[in-house]
Amino acid sequence: MTTPVLFFVDDLAEGVPQPATRFHEADPSVPQLHITDLGPTRGDGIFETAGVANGHVQAFDAHLRRFAKSAAILGLPAPKLDVWRDAILAAVAAHAPVTQAGAKFIMTRGLEDVEIPTGWVYIFEIEQAAVTDARTNGIKVLVLDRGYRSDIAQTAPWLLQGAKTLSYGLNQATQRWAKDHGADDVIFTTTDGFVLEGPHASLVIKKGNTIITPATDQGILEGTTQSSTFAFFESEGFSTEYRQVRTEELAEADGLWLASSTRLAAPIVEMDGAPVPHDADLTARLNAALLARTE
Ligand code: PLP
Repeated sequence: MTTPVLFFVDDLAEGVPQPATRFHEADPSVPQLHITDLGPTRGDGIFETAGVANGHVQAFDAHLRRFAKSAAILGLPAPKLDVWRDAILAAVAAHAPVTQAGAKFIMTRGLEDVEIPTGWVYIFEIEQAAVTDARTNGIKVLVLDRGYRSDIAQTAPWLLQGAKTLSYGLNQATQRWAKDHGADDVIFTTTDGFVLEGPHASLVIKKGNTIITPATDQGILEGTTQSSTFAFFESEGFSTEYRQVRTEELAEADGLWLASSTRLAAPIVEMDGAPVPHDADLTARLNAALLARTE
């Protein structure tokens, strides 16, 4: 594997003291964060992981938009997106050329009692074997209760639904749960019987000539890969829909994928132990289109 690249973003947000530099490179192999930073100590911050294919940051604008939206939901200072964009591009340029990398960018609330955000960009190579296996052989999922209703974003806005926060302990835990129970990943459902997303991915459903994804007003993330997936299907003549999907409808689907920025479209081949139909040729074309994106 190649060496990862780390850049700190200095002039990172509106309304905070302006430093002399916009961003600077740092050594990712040594400790860099202050131990009272609210990102690691409280999960109080936001992040994005964009795919980088052959040096191109994919869905770049959509990731930056979602970053700014997450900051607004958490009441963080607005990130200076032009600085973040330049820092990410500089970090990608500083990384050795690879087929696929991830660009993770993070902004925390900063140090306790100071609360000037800390921000950094981390570029790392994606191990091809694992993602290729998921894309070609597919994944097994469990359908798990997320423990809240589909109207949570409206009824409990303080829960920060729709923001990509650093509080991902639960998301990690559900993936361990899946592994411990013979599966690879998870589809979350609501207590009132609707399908949401995976812990790290959006759900894309095929029913005949219609491609569906659960509507994002149910407190789930707006998936950047899901959006590109819809563009691919529309170019192939499918119609696309954002709507509420009842959990029972999953069994009627003739294709299911979990879509995310680095693994791309992973076809679901088994759900709660039952086989799911899978069109390997369609998935291969979908992933080729996703990998070919230059922006
Ligand atoms: N939903 C959740 C909860 C996620 O964490 C992610 C990505 O990590 C996604 C959906 C998919 O988003 P994207 O396609 O932008 O990677």
